[in-house]
Amino acid sequence: MHTAVSDCANCPKTVVQAAAKLVKVALGVGLVDAETLKERDATCGACPHLLPGAVRMLRKCELCGCFIGAKTRLAEERCPDQPPRWEALAQNK
Ligand code: SF4
Repeated sequence: MHTAVSDCANCPKTVVQAAAKLVKVALGVGLVDAETLKERDATCGACPHLLPGAVRMLRKCELCGCFIGAKTRLAEERCPDQPPRWEALAQNK
């Protein structure tokens, strides 16, 4: 079971919102630390909801449609699955 795209407050609803996330990453605004990024990357990499992409930055989460390369880097982002797969990471810190 998972959150529908329209229910996820952190997921982009428009191309403009998706582009804004990519710009934040490019500018280095609101990024997670290296350890959190590594953990998120590993979690998404093993997740059945990760869609394949020709290159890493083009892989997307099938639940929210976000580009994982940007999503995993932004501190404000949340995993849309229920239960959220990233919360287990935060609870183990
Ligand atoms: S954000 Fe969550 S549901 Fe989406 S690919 Fe990553 S771990 Fe899976």
